[in-house]
Amino acid sequence: MTAKNFDFGVIGAGIVGLAMANRLRELHPDAKIAVFDKETSVGQHASGRNSGVLHAGFYYSPDSLKAALTRDGNQLLREFCASEGIAVKETGKVVVAQNASEVQALHELHRRGNANGVTTEIVTTEQLAELEPLARTEQIALWSPNTAVANPLAVTQALADKVVREGTQLKLGQRVTSTAPNRIITNLGNYSIGHIVNTAGLYADKIAKPFGFCDDYQMLPFKGLYWYGNWAPGTLQRHVYPVPDVRNPFLGVHITVTVDGRAKIGPTAIPIFSRESYSGFGGLSPKEIMNIVGIYPKFLTSKHHDVLGLIRAEMPKYLQKHLVSQAQSLVPSINPQDFTERGRPGIRAQLLDVKNKKLEMDFVVRGDENSTHLLNAVSPAWTSALAMANHVCQKFD
Ligand SMILES: Cc1cc2nc3c(=O)[nH]c(=O)nc-3n(C[C@H](O)[C@H](O)[C@H](O)COP(=O)(O)OP(=O)(O)OC[C@H]3O[C@@H](n4cnc5c(N)ncnc54)[C@H](O)[C@@H]3O)c2cc1C
Repeated sequence: MTAKNFDFGVIGAGIVGLAMANRLRELHPDAKIAVFDKETSVGQHASGRNSGVLHAGFYYSPDSLKAALTRDGNQLLREFCASEGIAVKETGKVVVAQNASEVQALHELHRRGNANGVTTEIVTTEQLAELEPLARTEQIALWSPNTAVANPLAVTQALADKVVREGTQLKLGQRVTSTAPNRIITNLGNYSIGHIVNTAGLYADKIAKPFGFCDDYQMLPFKGLYWYGNWAPGTLQRHVYPVPDVRNPFLGVHITVTVDGRAKIGPTAIPIFSRESYSGFGGLSPKEIMNIVGIYPKFLTSKHHDVLGLIRAEMPKYLQKHLVSQAQSLVPSINPQDFTERGRPGIRAQLLDVKNKKLEMDFVVRGDENSTHLLNAVSPAWTSALAMANHVCQKFD
């Protein structure tokens, strides 16, 4: 094993780790920086397997990190894409009400948008018909002009290319097997590190624990399934979202437009028992199954979430017919036979506050002079990543 020295060692080459490497380079032009990932290419997990929606930032409570970092991240990501020649499609988004009781919730989202400095507009059914003729709503809808879409893997790869161009070493195929203060040990080497940055997504809790920054937390994985439609590109023009259930950190099944104009239904938020179990028996880990199965009985009695309700609502979404029929309430012309092509599933790295039996709603950042840990980098952390890196570096510099 070779001893090597880096000023900064980032664990995880998803969008968040690469954004951190990018910001560290801006702040420390001469620093030695390495990004380690167990996979042989970047963006193999959430960063390359998401909807690619540049969220605007109106959902989140004004005092949250998500609110400010999504608003600012949206702008920074657009600028990055423009500078790298990556297409961003200006779809905008409509949030529709499925019944009269959801109309108030749309007004509340509009108020949050105002409080967060994010433009949204309440529109009538006639205005909705002009914005997105295929969407259906009750009385009013919410229009978000700053929501957009890009290819998530292309963006992540472009950020990797930039950091490498600027002198960061990308150490792919290196699984971090253990850490010690100022030391990263991988399957291929033992490195002395000035400051460790943990952006390990689904495994961020495991990396943080030995540093004492994740004692009350446990990662729970939730699977996001997608189905593509065979509609001609451009048939659907806007993302169409339901009113979210504010008790959960997920936005509900929606229909998005991809950057090349295709319509896509999903993602689900199905509880699963292994962190990287993308399909069938692949990625199943007996140790993780035991661990996660052990968590659920305690979590079921949460006063913050209707856990049984969530399980009952999500499990049937494994069935294409069920998932697609849910989308029909947003866009009635959806025909299940038109949405039969599976998309690449993604898995959400959702942090559970074990003591309070509460799914963490905001990004969580912990650290000290030796290490920084970005926990709960759930949606919309792909949008927020560049702003999050600015925030974290300012906080710990
Ligand atoms: C289905 C789905 C849809 C989503 N849609 C959107 C959206 O439309 N817009 C949006 O803004 N956000 C969205 N998100 C959220 C977004 O994808 C994530 O917030 C973001 O990608 C998190 O990035 P990350 O770098 O933290 O994690 P990841 O991309 O998961 O990267 C973590 C990396 O760490 C590596 N790693 C883990 N353990 C180790 C180890 N021991 N050693 C070495 N490497 C390790 C992994 O291999 C991985 O590459 C979605 C997420 C999902 C799952």
